[in-house]
Amino acid sequence: MNDCIFCKIVRGELPSAKVYEDDDVLAFLDIGPIVKGHTLVIPKAHYDPLPAVPAAQLAKVMAVVQRIAQAQLNGLSADGVNIHQSNGAVAGQIVPHVHFHVIPRFANDGHSWNWRAGGYSQPEEMKALAEKLRAAL
Ligand code: 5GP
Ligand code: ZN
Repeated sequence: MNDCIFCKIVRGELPSAKVYEDDDVLAFLDIGPIVKGHTLVIPKAHYDPLPAVPAAQLAKVMAVVQRIAQAQLNGLSADGVNIHQSNGAVAGQIVPHVHFHVIPRFANDGHSWNWRAGGYSQPEEMKALAEKLRAAL
């Protein structure tokens, strides 16, 4: 993808603070970190959205996500880690090249997720949605 920001980073046409690189996967610091050390992990090949990534490639990406999380816990002495991944503008995705956010968390780091738990009016509504999803697998 010629005009994809992350493909340009992979090709070295844009600078990045690299954390990890192999033939298939690149990890680099997010330029606008939620918390300092916030790292993006991407397949080097351009895929979007998440379901488009071949399972073998995704497994390689996830192995690096796990290693980065461990490095944040060990190397940055993070107290916790969030993993975040968005698909589609409606989900808040800005860069349409599959990427995982690996975010180190510290007590009093100033960030909190605006996670509003909703609910279902009837148990039947849950059952129907679960069935719909099962049928789509
Ligand atoms: P999204 O909302 O698509 O999941 O997140 C895209 C992320 O990419 C954002 O957190 C943003 O800060 C980061 N980002 C956008 N452009 C660049 C860039 O040129 N370099 C780096 N390192 N990160 C970027
Ligand atoms: Zn790309």
